[in-house]
Formats: sequence, structure tokens, C-alpha cells
Amino acid sequence: MVRRIVSFLLSFILAASCFGPVYADDVSWQQVDESENGRFEEDMARQGAEDPLDAELPLGAAKDMWLRIGLRYGSSAAASSTLGCSDGFVLARVTRYECEIIEDYSEYESLYISCEDGRAVVWDEKDGEELFTLEDDMAVLSAAEDPEERIVTIDGGRYRDGASFKPYGSSMTVINRVTLEHYVRGVIANEMGYQYPAEALKAQAVTARSYAACSLGKHGSYGFDLCTGQNCQVYRGVSSERESTDAACRQTEDIVITYKGKPVSGYYYAYSSGYTLDSEDVWTSQPGYLLGVKDEYATEYLWKASVSFEKLRERLVSLGYDCGEIESVSVEKKLENGAMNVLLISSDSGDVRLSKSNITGALSAFGVKSIFFYIGGEDYPGAGGRPAGTIFALPDLEIEAEDEVWVIGAGGEPVSRPASELFALKGRKVMEAFSGGEGSYRDETADAGMLYMTGFGYGHSVGMPQVSAKNMAEAGKSYAEILDYFYTGIDIRPLHGGE
Ligand SMILES: [Zn+2]
Repeated sequence: MVRRIVSFLLSFILAASCFGPVYADDVSWQQVDESENGRFEEDMARQGAEDPLDAELPLGAAKDMWLRIGLRYGSSAAASSTLGCSDGFVLARVTRYECEIIEDYSEYESLYISCEDGRAVVWDEKDGEELFTLEDDMAVLSAAEDPEERIVTIDGGRYRDGASFKPYGSSMTVINRVTLEHYVRGVIANEMGYQYPAEALKAQAVTARSYAACSLGKHGSYGFDLCTGQNCQVYRGVSSERESTDAACRQTEDIVITYKGKPVSGYYYAYSSGYTLDSEDVWTSQPGYLLGVKDEYATEYLWKASVSFEKLRERLVSLGYDCGEIESVSVEKKLENGAMNVLLISSDSGDVRLSKSNITGALSAFGVKSIFFYIGGEDYPGAGGRPAGTIFALPDLEIEAEDEVWVIGAGGEPVSRPASELFALKGRKVMEAFSGGEGSYRDETADAGMLYMTGFGYGHSVGMPQVSAKNMAEAGKSYAEILDYFYTGIDIRPLHGGE
């Protein structure tokens, strides 16, 4: 038996101490679920349907570009609503780029709105004096003279600019009427930690603005542009504003990303797995700017997940798949960069194939956080079941699989293992440490009643990984360099006012 001592300066799989999962503070990362498929298709179909660049407005017009943000609609539409503003109100006609004040109500610090016979009626108070009926193109705005001071409360929540109400059955859709820049200020901190470095926050501000600009009328059937949830971007008005994110917004005023002359949706997610993916390898199509890149700025994020075949069967049946008793789960196709492409579930009533984002859609309930993962028939890979992160393979050493090998990890403890039980991570691929070649995957078949998975990254893997953006900012890159790195062939330019 050949014994060798192999010292690894960085961590090795057996010394799994220094590269555990890392979590960013204060951000609820977008969930990985099957609804993303629908959102992507919807976004791509709609993108540029109303093109703000067609308006050919002067530089600075973003301050005057008005959005309609749906706060309560559909099943949560309001029977009545209350507005408050210490500066009082004005009634205005507001279109995309025009705001004409019709009437002064600055003596009222609160107003009550209810739906009466299909009209949105504004009262001085509940059961009080009827003041006016709100027509569709009208909004109630703060009467403050300085646009930066215009803050209203809408049913207790603080928002900038004003509100409108649209009859919906016997109740009303409640809409925040807000300028584009004010809207962006209420988004950034919900989508990225406000303590992130300035250039990362600026990149996030630009993607938030771009998303709004290419999503005008997304919820047009309800009479507004964007909702406040993850279906669009999380927006909570003034309560989300922070000094750092306000500065990021101000310093990128009106800047968006465009592709082929149109503002486009800058998809983003939390943690990179070392590669981003072409959108068609996750969803359905490829608009040209969402191409995969090798991400040199990734922070390693590792996760483990497991599920019994029985629970997996229940989940698949609940999603509408015809799945009997599961006999095995295996990889049918992986991409070169290691992303799962087709997962094959063999059952006694036939095979179920999950592909692309449907894999995470089905498995996120069990802790799967991305489509970059490995499976095996046991807790995987190796001692403690937890890979450490970096990234050595030793093809040049002449070691046979049955040799006993000593490794010394970062903790200094030598550990002995048969060479066949050692695995290394290289370029985010798990490989047998002493087998030599690239792509010498371990057999990824689970057939013993449990599916164990170990994976990398968190999120859909398309576009800009936010933690990588943070790392780039800390390495001195500008927001434009960050955006250019993750989005292919884009222009970074003002939305209004030409090139
Ligand atoms: Zn929405």
C-alpha cells in the first residue's frame, strides 16, 4: 500500500471548515420557484410594448415620468381608503409625462375615499362631505411645493407623490401615482442589502429603473403598471428608502440598460455558482443580452438538500406529473458548466423528466437553491457530507484508487482515506481527486429511496449575481463595469434625452 502525505494549502473536502454557506443580511432573496417560467415569458412578450424612448423627451424627463403602482387590487381591492398628508392635497390630471393641477385641497390633511355606484368618490371624512369624483386620469397628490417633500400616507403606508383609485366591482384598486425616480428609491433596499457598496447599489438602481421602463402597463388590465411584489419588483415606498440607496438612485438618475435600442429587464439573483446561464438554459428563450458568463467574482455558496422518494413522488403528483413509485433519480443531461439540464425520475408508472427551471420549481420545497447540483445515492460527497469549496485535483500524481492517501486540510489535521473516497471541486465541478480527467463525474444516480443533493449558488442563475456585484464593487469596479460584465451587448444610457 502506497502512503503519501499530500498537503493542501487551501481547504480540501475533508477539511470542511472555512467555506461554509454565507448569507447576506437584510435581503429576502427571490424564491426559486416555477412561477419564474411564466414571469420570464410574460416579460419577454411585453418588453418594450410601450416604449418610453419613443417619447423623445429632454434630458431629466425621468423626474416627470409617472408610474402607476398597484398597492391593492384584485381580491385585495379596497372597499374604502384613507389618505393623509400634512401639506394637504391637490387634485391633478396625471398622464405618463404630464401633471396638471386642477383643484387645490390643501386645507385637508386627510381624505376618505369610497366606491359609490361604480365611482371612486373622495370625501372630507367618513360619512362627511362629498368633495369630488375621481376620474380615471385623475390623481390626488400631496400639495407640497417641493416634489421631494411630497409624501402621503395611503391606508397608513408612506409613499411619495400621491394616489389614485379605480373602481373594481364594488371596491377599488388602490394605486400609488409616483415618478420613476421616486419609485426606484422605494425598490432598491428590498432587492439588495442597503449596506452594500455604492457601485453595487448603483447597478441595482439601474436594473430596477430598467425593469420599470420596460414593464410599463404590465398590469394594464387592472389599470396600473407594476405591482409591489416579486412578480414585478418589491416596492414598499418611503419605508424602504435609505441614505445609501437614495444616493445610488440620484447618482444614476435616468440611467437604464438598453439592448438593441430598447430598455430591457436586468435579471438578477443572489449567489453565483461560478457561471451564469443563458436564459434559454433556464427558461425558454434567449433575448441576446442574457448570456451565460464565467463569473470570476463569485463568493462560494454551498447548499445541501435531501428528500425521500415518497415525498418527491407526492410533490411531483401535486404539480401534475404522472409519477408512480420512484425507482431511481438520475442525471439525463448536464451542461458543460455543470448546470443540471434534464433530471430523470424513473417510476413504476413511467419516467418523469424535469428540465431547466422546472427542476428547481419541483425541488425548491426541499431546499434546492439552484440548478447547479450533484446527486448521489448517499450523503454526498464524502466525509461529513460537506464539500469545503476549493478546488484542487491532482491528476499528475500517480495514485491508484485503492491507495491510502493522507491529506492535511486547512485545520492542520492529517486524515487518511482511500483515494477512491476523495473528491475535489474544480471549476465548480466535483471530480474524483485522483482519477485525472475533467468531467470524470461520479455516477449520479440515487436508487435507495433518498435523493441527496449538494449544490452551488442561490437563484435562477440568469443575469447579475448580486453578491458578485458586491465583490466587484469592493474590487474597485464601477456600476457600469458590473452591468457590462453580466449583461451581454447592452448600452448603459439615459432613458430620456438621447445617447
Ligand atoms: Zn407585478
